[in-house]
Amino acid sequence: MIAVEINGCQVERLRRELRRAGNREIGGVMVAENLGDAAFRLAGFSVQRSGGGVASFVRKPALHRRFMKSFFEQTGWDYARFNYFGEWHSHPLYPAIPSSVDLRQMQELVDDPHQTALFAVLLIVRLGLRGGIEASAYAFRRGHQAIEVQIHCAYGGICPPTGIPCVSGNRRRRILERRQRSITRRTRSSDDENPLPH
Ligand SMILES: [Zn+2]
Repeated sequence: MIAVEINGCQVERLRRELRRAGNREIGGVMVAENLGDAAFRLAGFSVQRSGGGVASFVRKPALHRRFMKSFFEQTGWDYARFNYFGEWHSHPLYPAIPSSVDLRQMQELVDDPHQTALFAVLLIVRLGLRGGIEASAYAFRRGHQAIEVQIHCAYGGICPPTGIPCVSGNRRRRILERRQRSITRRTRSSDDENPLPH
């Protein structure tokens, strides 16, 4: 079992960013310290505030390259201990679980022979109704199926995803109806497109 530890400051920062972003998706890359025995400590993450809609997020590589460069400089290029950990993004209006597009993109990332990461984690977050952060994480390895990653936070503030869109009233009803239509369409056709956003 792969596990990642997230500290209180990181949870607070995520919460601030998610509040600020409202219904737009945000995301970035994550870096972590390898503690051995499949345990990692999140060392930091970049935040890209632009480029996301209510159901999509397009990463801007230049911003994240700068973040990675600065992280490697700070940690003395000790790649065995401090390295790229993966990607994160928010699902403000949908459950904090990866969509089929998310899963495919991450698997393609680690399977790509032109890049060096053989392993990457995808973290999906969203602000819960009570201000907590709902989150799930999956690890992708070249040639293997994705596996769930345990998220630990001594500070609390992180909970498992709920299946309910994080809005209320008419908007919530419209979203639920749209999801239901989408699921019905999906069940009727052989198309395996996931109705959830990515
Ligand atoms: Zn997604």
